[in-house]
Amino acid sequence: MKIVDLRRDTITLPTTAMVDTAFKATLGDSVYGEDPNQVQLEKLAAEILGKEASIFVPSGTMGNLVALLSHTNRGDELICEENAHIRLSETGGGAMVGGLMFRGIEDHSGVPDVSAIESAIRADDIHYPPTSLICTEITHYRYGGIIPPLEKIAAIYTFAQKKGIPVHCDGARIFNAAVALNKEVSELTYYSDSVMVSLSKGLGAPVGSILVGQHDFIEKAKKYRKMLGGGMRQTGWLAACGIVALQKENIQLLYEDHQNAIRLAQGIARLPGVKIDFNQVQTNFILVDITQTSISGKLFLEKLKEKGILVTLAKPTLIRMVTSRVVNEQDIEYTVETISNLL
Ligand SMILES: *Cc1c(COP(=O)(O)O)cnc(C)c1O
Repeated sequence: MKIVDLRRDTITLPTTAMVDTAFKATLGDSVYGEDPNQVQLEKLAAEILGKEASIFVPSGTMGNLVALLSHTNRGDELICEENAHIRLSETGGGAMVGGLMFRGIEDHSGVPDVSAIESAIRADDIHYPPTSLICTEITHYRYGGIIPPLEKIAAIYTFAQKKGIPVHCDGARIFNAAVALNKEVSELTYYSDSVMVSLSKGLGAPVGSILVGQHDFIEKAKKYRKMLGGGMRQTGWLAACGIVALQKENIQLLYEDHQNAIRLAQGIARLPGVKIDFNQVQTNFILVDITQTSISGKLFLEKLKEKGILVTLAKPTLIRMVTSRVVNEQDIEYTVETISNLL
């Protein structure tokens, strides 16, 4: 049976170009800075993302945690959007490992207003922990891959600099945002001191993320990466895939994923009882509200699965579909047709 996998963009497999490059890679011990491909990847990533230096880490979760540890001290508080991945979906690592408190501010644009952040910053008072970090998320996962307004992101950065508080961006899908806005990614990374970027999602690398920042930050981050077990020795095969992932033509493929998300949304929106907020369809996610249909979310998932279509539930009657390079236009048509028959 044909499988159309719309669950996640982490299921992408390395391209032939990645595999070819990987198997030709010369290997070395990356803990000693001797793996040539990791050295090259870290240099390339820093250049593209517009910061002084970068480190290759096994996962986005580790990249974010290393960033939190490098920016803060135990007992500090950080401010992020209420539904940020870093707060909800990273096993509480910042609290467990970093001794951090998370102050969440809900804002459906994906990022809080400066005024809300300002009032959440702790006064210098014996009762309060110091606020030592602000985190943003581009694109915002829980709100369906939306791009928070850049004016707000810029305003937060200006404000944070005035307050002397660093900004970390969870940019797992920041390349999706750059491609969707038709901007250089460095225009988006400009508004934070550090950024984590996933290579293993829409960009197709098998493993790994990048953490970028200025030299002194990255020197600190290297120690925390080692402490958390991210010193990976002969990383050349993975790093070589990462280098291919960061090539312009590979990044540009995300545009197709976004087009497919729009096609999918347009096809499904015409069907009876379903609702799609097109303001949310900005990158490679769509959220389909089936509350007004007679089908439960669970049954919807099961019925689609019988036809080889895999999706996830964001809420009991809200379906999340994620496009990536494993699905093409025909798969989208098949999905729309199948849902049409189901409804
Ligand atoms: C996937 C993701 C992460 C974590 O990356 P992993 O490689 O899965 O650990 C962090 N933030 C966001 C927004 C993500 O979508």
